[in-house]
Amino acid sequence: MDIFESMTTQGHEQVVFVSLGDAGLKAIIAIHDTTLGPALGGCRMYPYKTEAEAVADAMRLSRAMTYKAAAAGLHLGGGKSVIIGDPKTDKNEPLFRAFGKAVASLSGRYITAEDVGTDVQDMEFIFSETDYVTGVDTSRGGSGNPSPYTAFGVMQGMMACVARAFGEQSMKGRTVAIQGLGHVGAHLAGLLKKEGATVIATDVDKARAQKVGEEHGLDELVSPDDIFSVPCDVFAPCAMGLAINENTIDKLKCKVVAGGANNQLQSDDFGAELERRNIFYAPDFVINAGGLINVYTELEGYNEERAMRLVRNLYYSVARIFTLAEAHNEPTIFAARRMVRSRIQEVARLQPHFNRFPARAAIHRNHRVPAAAPGRRR
Ligand code: NAD
Repeated sequence: MDIFESMTTQGHEQVVFVSLGDAGLKAIIAIHDTTLGPALGGCRMYPYKTEAEAVADAMRLSRAMTYKAAAAGLHLGGGKSVIIGDPKTDKNEPLFRAFGKAVASLSGRYITAEDVGTDVQDMEFIFSETDYVTGVDTSRGGSGNPSPYTAFGVMQGMMACVARAFGEQSMKGRTVAIQGLGHVGAHLAGLLKKEGATVIATDVDKARAQKVGEEHGLDELVSPDDIFSVPCDVFAPCAMGLAINENTIDKLKCKVVAGGANNQLQSDDFGAELERRNIFYAPDFVINAGGLINVYTELEGYNEERAMRLVRNLYYSVARIFTLAEAHNEPTIFAARRMVRSRIQEVARLQPHFNRFPARAAIHRNHRVPAAAPGRRR
């Protein structure tokens, strides 16, 4: 892999390699674009087979964060980090504190958070070493688990899609097929049931599907292969990436695709193909920004009411993409990308004038409590 060439092609500003042998830490921090503000994005822990795979993942994910933050109107850039290791066996305090020191060394250009393989407890260890971490526990001025906010945001965006497709936004009586009943999918299923929707769902983890199904009174559980061909109003990808691909697109029997997963399309061309088939697609990086919005408010001093208000606005963000797409006669995925690029370019043009927008974070936590972890510096 030619890293510099990839950085140039994808537009990355900085890729940092961290090796702290004493703590067994091998990590990569990718900062994609800080035009709009400091690069915020989660820390993924995963047993990558090769270092090249880890670098590619960090770079791909950090770029997606630039799009997500810009589309949500946040003053944030895009970044992401990966720790090479197995979250089931390799987690410990020194590892995450070492990672915290690496984050601290970037002086706020990068702010971390939870991602696949990391949780609130890991963020607590990182918080022992740096303020540049979000998603820490609510008892320490943090915003906690972002998933309920992601799910709530997906629900708002879904209603905007349904309004577009059927002329009214209510989910009552609508049928939604959910792929993946993890943190986001399970919350979404619960919200939809409360609104009176019929929910058909699946998860590769059968026991989990059963548990969530009973908890929320879901209407039907199907196999992971069958979820694509369920006749429904909305298909909601809430599992891993690439749900809409060359093997699945022909199976879809929905009018809307709107879900929480990242990277739902095999490529942007599949967004165009959905449009050709008269299926309304809510671009993933627009509709699933609720969790990011929630951790963003943590930087200002967390206020749940404000966070919910901002997340609720995802209804209008998604609606705006449909309006833009119609105005330019293009698929929603292209309209969303165009909107993001134009915001970044416009803000970049302003930067030489008066003060530069800060690419470093100033963090205002509501309240801090004395150190819980031994050796905490303050
Ligand atoms: P999670 O790991 O809690 O849940 C994912 C679920 O999908 C698991 O239960 C897993 O068993 C299931 N699954 C995996 N492959 C499947 C398949 N082929 N068919 C059916 N089920 C399958 O993750 P999560 O936090 O709920 O995130 C879900 C998606 O949303 C991911 O793509 C994530 O990147 C994205 N996302 C999450 C958040 C958040 O706040 N958690 C924010 C933005 C985007």
